[in-house]
Amino acid sequence: MAIATVNPATGETLKTFEPLNPGELEDRLVLAEQAYEAHRRTSFATRAGWLHKAAALLDADHDTVARTMTTEMGKTLVAARAEVAKCAKTMRWYADHAAALLADEHPDPADVRDSGAARAVVRYRPLGVVLAVMPWNFPLWQVVRFAAPTLMAGNTGLLKHASNVPQTALYLEELFRRAGFPAGCFQTLLIGSGAVEGVLRDPRIAAATLTGSEPAGRAVASVAGDEIKKTVLELGGSDPYVVLPSADLDAAVRVAVTARVQNNGQSCIAAKRFLLHTDIHDAFAERFTAAMAALTIGDPMDENTDVGPLASAQGRSDLEELVDDAVHRGATALCGARRPPQHPAGWFYEPTVLTGITPDMRIHHEEAFGPVASLYRVADLDEAVALANDTPFGLSSNAWTRNEAEQERLARDLRAGGVYFNGMTASHPGLPFGGAQRSGYGRELSGHGIREFCNITTLWYG
Ligand code: NDP
Repeated sequence: MAIATVNPATGETLKTFEPLNPGELEDRLVLAEQAYEAHRRTSFATRAGWLHKAAALLDADHDTVARTMTTEMGKTLVAARAEVAKCAKTMRWYADHAAALLADEHPDPADVRDSGAARAVVRYRPLGVVLAVMPWNFPLWQVVRFAAPTLMAGNTGLLKHASNVPQTALYLEELFRRAGFPAGCFQTLLIGSGAVEGVLRDPRIAAATLTGSEPAGRAVASVAGDEIKKTVLELGGSDPYVVLPSADLDAAVRVAVTARVQNNGQSCIAAKRFLLHTDIHDAFAERFTAAMAALTIGDPMDENTDVGPLASAQGRSDLEELVDDAVHRGATALCGARRPPQHPAGWFYEPTVLTGITPDMRIHHEEAFGPVASLYRVADLDEAVALANDTPFGLSSNAWTRNEAEQERLARDLRAGGVYFNGMTASHPGLPFGGAQRSGYGRELSGHGIREFCNITTLWYG
């Protein structure tokens, strides 16, 4: 894929970029390693000062950077501004908490004596240069949730961002530099995905994190495995949204719409499969379909727009194929299932509600990366759990019930990295985030996230 800014609302190519040549790439690897040697010796207080400065700069730039994101990948400007604010908040959270999260630990004195030591300490030391391969869907957030903990832990970062968000990628490099982080602490590599393997095999790279599709995750994890390098993978999802009779139906419907169409439907943690108890199925389906059909599709820069274009022509045709396959095999579209005729340019797709999904349809097993909801009727909690788990993914899940016994059952049995009750799955700086099964492994955010790329060192004193 060419490295370029192409406006998804119009299809117009606005700016193209040359990938780094081998000499430029080598210079950046040298700098990353040199920067690491100095950065790992800095104090938490120094790093926190730089990260607070980065947060302040981001707040000051919020409108410009939000517009860059909207131009590059089509999210609504309103959503882009919210993303900027969340990034600044997360920077501040890690700046304020990293020292405590990575403080020395003192094992149980009985275990220390048992080891024959006079004393023992567990220390979280950095690992080195971490490569981040990131997607376009939250072009700022996906990077910041890696960069903030990584830099606070004393690592340095190299970003290979998605090829369709180069200006956001370059902005991030500049942001950390302006905030005071020494040159090389955080660099953007304008390279295609074909160049990732060479970088990852380079002995100067200690570890890698990837957010994106399953094939990309598999490719990066295979190379990292071959090189015995640690990875964190955050891949796709097809999160269930279970609604049981005790749910507040108004809230469940309202949140369902947001949970499905947030980011124009292109979120790994969007609710994609709606598993509705038969007692509330018809009422939910009617209200949800009406709300989806009433959404305003249009220019993402317009503050009244609910749903903008998909990020790429390929993304839209992938989604169309999934919907067409389902309809061809007998599913019914309650709304949408087409390109909006009033927007012939750009990569728009109407919010779509499908019912009558059966296991022979691709959409039953695959991720719908766009504003397409699959509705299922379930007879009881057992069927809801079985269907929720009938997926290769396991990122997160949502469950609407006020019955505590049902909540306990779902907390025990839903096979996913999160279960969000009576609300929408979202990431928060202080809570761990990540998946199970084909949705990946490892955790981002919270103390779990910052420790992923640490060398957990045992200090034993005889
Ligand atoms: P990709 O997974 O292809 O892209 C994500 C990142 O990985 C990009 O930086 C990309 O670079 C890079 N990449 C792709 N292939 C490789 C490879 N073989 N080796 C190393 N790096 C690679 O996502 P797409 O944009 O193609 O989207 C396809 C699907 O992925 C979506 O429909 C959705 O299902 C899923 N997805 C999930 C996301 C999530 O948040 N979990 C985010 C985005 C997509 P480049 O851009 O240069 O190709």
